[in-house]
Amino acid sequence: MLIDINELKTRDGPLLIEKNFSEGELDMASDVSMLRQPVHSQLQLSLVGEQIHVKGVVGANLELTCSRCLKSFERSIEKNFELDYRPDPMVEEEGEEFSLAYTDLDVGFYRDQKLDVSALVAEQVVLEVPMKPVCHGDCKGLCDQCGADLNEKGCDCQPGSLDPRLAVLADLKKKISES
Ligand SMILES: [Zn+2]
Ligand SMILES: [Zn+2]
Repeated sequence: MLIDINELKTRDGPLLIEKNFSEGELDMASDVSMLRQPVHSQLQLSLVGEQIHVKGVVGANLELTCSRCLKSFERSIEKNFELDYRPDPMVEEEGEEFSLAYTDLDVGFYRDQKLDVSALVAEQVVLEVPMKPVCHGDCKGLCDQCGADLNEKGCDCQPGSLDPRLAVLADLKKKISES
């Protein structure tokens, strides 16, 4: 969804957008999450000079995979944000010096007089996806030896002990070296 800057210029007040974005409309570059339902967004776009100020909220229901127990779980997010978009400096006239803070997350750029609102919303959602999602803060994860889900049942593995199959090999190796 592209918003033409000229449309903002002709308005007296800010442009209000309320829209649900489906997963297909949002190019979610994250493979760790899926949308359970469309992302709900409310955006307010106002033009300050050539800069677009966006104030909004996005709400989404994500399906994440726990990095400890590998089960999928649902997490809903709701995020308020304020961002500024400037004309992309790459399309400005040559020879002009720009000292823009590229690392500033609160400043984005728009190109060809258009702001890509879908990309903006997708970005806000992706920012809320944790690097290592965890289903519960106290998720015990899987036993790294037998693979049992330690949230459901314990196992008899000792920390640092060998897999029984490996123990047989270790035993054999010992016998060989002794003979
Ligand atoms: Zn878990
Ligand atoms: Zn185990």
